[in-house]
Amino acid sequence: MSMLTPILNPLTLPNGAVLKNRLVMAPMTTCTGFYDGTVTSELVEYYRVRAGSIGTVIVECCYIDNRGPAFPGAIAIDSDNKIHGLAKIAHAIKSQGSKAILQIYHGGRMVEPALIGGKTPVAPSAIAAPREGATTPQALTAEDVETMITKFGDAVNRAIKAGFDGVEIHGANTYLIQQFFSPNSNQRTDQWGGDRDQRARFPLAVLDITHQMAERFASPSFIIGYRFSPEEIEVPGIRFDDTIYLLDKLAERGLDYVHFSVGSLLRPSIVDTQDPTPLIKKFLAMRSARLAKIPVIGVGGVVNKSDAEMALESGYDLVAVGKACIAYPDWTDRIIKNDPLELYIDSNKREALTIPEPLWRFSLVDAMIREVGATGRKYKAGVYQEKVEEEALKLKINVTLDTDRITDISLVPDDSLDIDFTSTFESLRERILVANSPHVDAITGATTQSEALKKAVSRALTTSSKEHVIEEGGNPNAPVNYDVVIIGSGGAGLAAAIQAHDEGAHVVVIEKMPVIGGNTMKASIGMNAAETRYQQQKGIEDSKELFYQETLKGGKNKNNPALLREFINLAPEAIDWLAERGIELSDITITGGMSVDRTHRPEDRTAVGGFLISGLVKNINQRDIEVLLETSVSEILLENGAVSGVKVVDEYNDSRILNAKSVIVATGGFSANREMVLQYRPELDGYVTTNHKGATGSGISMLQKIGADTVDMSEIQLHPTVEQTTSYLVSESIRGGGAILVSQRGERFFNEMETRDKVSAEIIALPEKNAWIIFDDQVRRNNKASDEYIAKGFVISAATSAELAVKLNIVPETLQSTLDRFNQFVEQQYDDDFGRKTALRHPLNQGPYYAILVSPGVHHTMGGVTINTDTAVLDTHKQVINGAWAAGEVAGGIHGGNRIGGNAVADIIVFGIKSGRNAAIYAKNHP
Ligand code: ADP
Repeated sequence: MSMLTPILNPLTLPNGAVLKNRLVMAPMTTCTGFYDGTVTSELVEYYRVRAGSIGTVIVECCYIDNRGPAFPGAIAIDSDNKIHGLAKIAHAIKSQGSKAILQIYHGGRMVEPALIGGKTPVAPSAIAAPREGATTPQALTAEDVETMITKFGDAVNRAIKAGFDGVEIHGANTYLIQQFFSPNSNQRTDQWGGDRDQRARFPLAVLDITHQMAERFASPSFIIGYRFSPEEIEVPGIRFDDTIYLLDKLAERGLDYVHFSVGSLLRPSIVDTQDPTPLIKKFLAMRSARLAKIPVIGVGGVVNKSDAEMALESGYDLVAVGKACIAYPDWTDRIIKNDPLELYIDSNKREALTIPEPLWRFSLVDAMIREVGATGRKYKAGVYQEKVEEEALKLKINVTLDTDRITDISLVPDDSLDIDFTSTFESLRERILVANSPHVDAITGATTQSEALKKAVSRALTTSSKEHVIEEGGNPNAPVNYDVVIIGSGGAGLAAAIQAHDEGAHVVVIEKMPVIGGNTMKASIGMNAAETRYQQQKGIEDSKELFYQETLKGGKNKNNPALLREFINLAPEAIDWLAERGIELSDITITGGMSVDRTHRPEDRTAVGGFLISGLVKNINQRDIEVLLETSVSEILLENGAVSGVKVVDEYNDSRILNAKSVIVATGGFSANREMVLQYRPELDGYVTTNHKGATGSGISMLQKIGADTVDMSEIQLHPTVEQTTSYLVSESIRGGGAILVSQRGERFFNEMETRDKVSAEIIALPEKNAWIIFDDQVRRNNKASDEYIAKGFVISAATSAELAVKLNIVPETLQSTLDRFNQFVEQQYDDDFGRKTALRHPLNQGPYYAILVSPGVHHTMGGVTINTDTAVLDTHKQVINGAWAAGEVAGGIHGGNRIGGNAVADIIVFGIKSGRNAAIYAKNHP
């Protein structure tokens, strides 16, 4: 049998150890260790079931020193008490017949202080990693370096004691060993730094001590491997010839294999992007005779037998398999049988596949999970043809459904299909099939087409569900029972749905628009919260009390104090709630009216709205929560003084009743309802709105019909910086990032970081009623939103400020002196002219310079229905309307007379979660 395919041929390593075949389970982070790095029993079982037919298992990296863990849940080999647990892993693997190798490492400067009790990470030099928010490490002294080498030696000794067949020295992934070899991170001037030879000393010393330990304590067949990242993108950085040089030196000392750390087998250079030659080819061509004697492991993208065979044909001696081994514990057996495999994991198979919980939630695995009909939604199996019609796009798709899932989507052949569209289609098809839901992220750059396709798939599902009901002898328009109905799919509605589901309720989300996300999609800046762990990590001092006082001041003291307190108190928990669901808002900035950086946003500083909705929808899909699009709630039903459900109308104008004990109204505000805005604020006639079309306030009127009271209805916020031709909002993060506002005369006229109401009033008071928001390239680089504005075509840019002034029809000298004066304020961190104290981040002096013409637009309706701190809707006598809940912009009182930037996202998440929890509990108690 083993002769049928070269991948099953044995391989004798340079030290004489024999691997029974060419297949290796790649070392992969599982995040499944205890807090102190001890092995868990889940982890032992995970490895046990994956060992057997595969020749070798390389166990995930194990840190050798207590400042070494590079991720939460990492396992350790930093002290003797870890040997016992590791021995269980080694034994589990070997008892199944595979070789067990343990990878050892130290994260160096890649370690987050939070993972090492707030201590400063260590590295060759005190230079932070080139990534946002990276901590500047402490440079190891020469003595520390010697100690570190001994610690690697101790770790090898422990691995031997634990019974491993070998160790893999982790010289890759920009961890400590690589940091020593890199001219970027190692700028030492002692014997451990300097030229390439000097920088190679640390990896070589680690290898030496490994040999010494093996010679003293292990059998001659103890395997020693070395993993390397072939290149670094940084300048200066490791280049491929440096790597070959190092590997050759290591080979001279003796190695049993070298192991590429790359994402795909045939990856070309990441530095020389013009050269398509796979690095393995270069490796084969450049290696010395000495290095050629050492087997090389390839990795990346191996799923099927043919992939593994291709790896060997390309010149690798061994092939490491990652994700496929997670998805298929018996992967080797399957490929021997020639099973065609796909990288999917059914969502109900976690236990059957022995995948530890933390690994299941890890992004690598999470992306492979395919939903299976957990809540029993039923379709009539068959092929459903749907039209896709959107702007220039006119085509048909076939959606194939099984009784509980989407099994395929195909394009009905048509001459008009172009290649760009087919690739969009393929990518979206893949996303929909993996999520088994049409609610997936749109393909970047093809949003309209993606939305049209998603809509068509949604329709097929609706049609087929209805046909299923008919087939079963039922009436598709008959009432359906739920515990909780959520109206609106913005941030508040989705957070509510997830929480209510997790409380055990049967929920449905109703959305009148064809897309999920509501106005939340447009949220740009972030989510405010005080006393969060992210603030703590960044050393930002803040207090809930200060946040409360500043919000109250910003809201002109009109905020409902009880709601505001609740909001402030729950905000940090809401940040954690999101993080636990994979939505990390770990970068922090500031908005107008706040004195402290407390606006949490995605690590890469993209707009918060899309990021938030995408993450929430992922959670919705994982729970198989039903979302009905293009379905509008027309009435909330009341029976004996309590809510009994809703009446919905779908896109075919079919109406039906959904029974529910709890109804959460999360329909957003009414900024896009001109009549309603003018009813409360006639002077706002003529203003554009920043809101999406669905912001019509229908939730308010439906709740009023069942007796709800309203508050602050005339408190309508203008956002000061709206581009008028597109109604596009220019995020406060641009000013928060350091931009200024100037009049047509080229002069600043106000503190840009004042609250929105005041800044808007000052712009309106200018003779032109508009202003230029001006920023430089530093601001652009730190705020991704600006690239979006540039792409939209409404940003005017020029290489110098003088050229910009000419384009804006401003006297260049005036603009220059405005910038000079502002830059002087940045220097002194105080603005003598207008008292700006925050976001004086850096002088505006790095071209290109940018400008956007802005005026205020209707942005947020602070008023809405009255609720109590439980999110229960109150009537005009301040009594609870049983079963009616409201969260998000539909509810009034929290923001008083003016909403602070960053408080809307906090509001929807805090009260979304709360309403979901309370509505579910109420429904459970009122069967
Ligand atoms: P929030 O920020 O409070 O979550 P959003 O504006 O983001 O509010 O979301 C509210 C959602 O509710 C929008 O997507 C809107 O289309 C939807 N919506 C409004 N009225 C209705 C209705 N009567 N039936 C169904 N959906 C509605």
